[in-house]
Amino acid sequence: MPELIGHRDILRELRALAMSEDVPHALLFAGAEGTGRTALAIEYARLLNCEVLHPPVTAGASLFREEFHSQLATRNSDSLPCGVCRQCRLIDEGVHPDIIVMGPGDTLCRPRDGESHAKHPDSRDIRICQVRGVIDLASRYPFEAQYRMIIIDPADRLYRNGQAVHTLLKTLEEPPGHTVFCLITAAPEELLETIVSRCRRIDVRHVPRLEIEAGLVSRGIEPALALRAAEASKGRPGLALQYANQPDLMGDRARLLERCARIAAESTAERFKYAGELAERFRRDRVAVGAELDVWEAFWEERLREGAGASAGNEALTAALEALRAIKQAREDLQTNVIPRTAFELMLLTFPRVTLSISREEEPAAYA
Ligand SMILES: [Zn+2]
Ligand SMILES: [Zn+2]
Repeated sequence: MPELIGHRDILRELRALAMSEDVPHALLFAGAEGTGRTALAIEYARLLNCEVLHPPVTAGASLFREEFHSQLATRNSDSLPCGVCRQCRLIDEGVHPDIIVMGPGDTLCRPRDGESHAKHPDSRDIRICQVRGVIDLASRYPFEAQYRMIIIDPADRLYRNGQAVHTLLKTLEEPPGHTVFCLITAAPEELLETIVSRCRRIDVRHVPRLEIEAGLVSRGIEPALALRAAEASKGRPGLALQYANQPDLMGDRARLLERCARIAAESTAERFKYAGELAERFRRDRVAVGAELDVWEAFWEERLREGAGASAGNEALTAALEALRAIKQAREDLQTNVIPRTAFELMLLTFPRVTLSISREEEPAAYA
């Protein structure tokens, strides 16, 4: 398994945590999508379960547990997972039965006893039935891992109310010894404070372009493509890998981002026109429109990053945040029975009008 791209500090921290006597059982990885949050969580799983780093302690040897731990403590905290033991291999292949990734959808759905419950593969939120499933799972022993890992991604989509969430909070506070939670989010401020305070927070930042480029090259990507993908990914190794494997996506995304910039600079009338087109396309292809909303998110996140620099005022930041919230709202509205056109219009109206120094060589194409 090739080495994770970037985040050397975090890796060092995770190694130390995994080798410590008091392994943290709830981690919150906060950072933008594609920066490597899930990859880091998986690395933590490897660090916790590698049989070379943690030789299994048999029952007969439990008397020597103390000695075992003191040995661990003196071990170099830079120890790496071996990559060849059964645990490492299962994790690398993404088939370990104790590493569970849960997001919006059906995963771990557990209806209340006697409740009839339709499947919900397309749900936007992590539902209460899934929270119930998590709690139930956490109470059982892992199949074969020393530490089961439950990755909740994105954690900001967790259902917020009700008894199940209280139970989840209790589980996070006093997790069963064999379960580790990794919460993933791009919007930590959207999480309940009570959840955040129970987690060890790890901020996952963007990765310098050179590191991404080198990471891609070390994975056998041709240097010219590695450079292009690293550049287009804007600090997100996950995205860079996608681009390197499917270079077509890069062109599309760049084109879509450029179009976002054009629309964001348009008058209200033009925006309404675009909202109508989105609604029309939404009827035919929800997935494509969902991907287009992803691009809008990327567009405003980019403004947010620019605004965080000294040049732009608070106003620009607030506006970009509001735009991001409007996208989230539109997504939610599209799940309910709000008329799609209305949802898109509201979103487009909330977007601030920005003027950007984009190339105007191309004629504004039809928005389809
Ligand atoms: Zn191993
Ligand atoms: Zn369910």
